[in-house]
Amino acid sequence: MLSIVIPVHNEAEVIPTLLNRLTQVTRTLDGPVELLFVDDGSRDNSVALLLQARRRHPGIRVLQLSRNFGKEAAVSAGLQHARGEAVILMDADLQDPPERIPDMLAAWRKGADVVLMKRRTRAGESWLKRLTAHLFYRLINRISDAPIPVDTGDFRLMSRRTVDALNRLPERNRYLKGMFAWVGMPTVTLEFDRDPRLAGRTKWNYLKLMHLAMEGITSFSTRPLRLALVLGLLAAGTGGLFGVWEVLKALIFGIDTPGYASMIAMITFLSGVQLLCLGLLGEYVGRIYMETKQRPVFIVAEDSDDSAHRHLPQL
Ligand code: UDP
Ligand code: MG
Repeated sequence: MLSIVIPVHNEAEVIPTLLNRLTQVTRTLDGPVELLFVDDGSRDNSVALLLQARRRHPGIRVLQLSRNFGKEAAVSAGLQHARGEAVILMDADLQDPPERIPDMLAAWRKGADVVLMKRRTRAGESWLKRLTAHLFYRLINRISDAPIPVDTGDFRLMSRRTVDALNRLPERNRYLKGMFAWVGMPTVTLEFDRDPRLAGRTKWNYLKLMHLAMEGITSFSTRPLRLALVLGLLAAGTGGLFGVWEVLKALIFGIDTPGYASMIAMITFLSGVQLLCLGLLGEYVGRIYMETKQRPVFIVAEDSDDSAHRHLPQL
């Protein structure tokens, strides 16, 4: 069985087209297909549309989370509930073309555990988004141990053993791109042209993206902490030398009082550095705090497959 996991958050506008194009592709596949939609707390009629479609296509399964947990949690929920031997992850907005699914399956049948879809083009994305994405990948790959392949999103196929491995990672701060890279496994990369979003608006803004970037950096590396240490050593070193120089100067040439401006500059600069490092430390402490709470990453309110069982006639 093949599972296709699709996180959905207020995507009513695209769902009809999505279902159309998806079923067109899945019809041509041999073997059963599970279309696992994870509703991430949609407030429009996405769920109604999906449940309605389910009556015609029994392969559709709708997992409803109890509220909006964010895409990373929705995908995690999908991966944990998917039953397929192979699992494909794609966005609901048709930026990831379902027509490539047969190619992905072919690569998997040839033995790949992970079939990565690499964007050749990113239509409909501003140069600013492209630039920031580029810089982010450069930065994160410099500091993290398992490099994250450039220009790949979540659109990918994973074998059962890869999904199982992923499901065993217990962290609450789920930075999926990094987790995928960390799990590894034999990988094949295919290229595709990323289309612009079909309708509706992106759920990301720069604030959210920055949060994700911070998440990515701090959850996969403690190197920023070492950077803080180096910064502290440098500041202490120069401060010490400067102190010696000042004392010698005072002994040789006598004391001259002016120096107010330089003193203020030093104080503000150094206290800025201290606060920065403190904040950095706090970022990691906060992360530890979140992890120690051991809360689940998501809550499933309803699984359409379970509720189907509930309505079976009692024997
Ligand atoms: N999504 C989600 N929960 C959220 C935000 C987004 O499940 O809180 C889903 C959304 O429905 C879509 C996918 O994640 O299927 C990607 O979202 P979007 O297209 O807004 O992101 P972008 O492609 O702009 O990075
Ligand atoms: Mg999108």
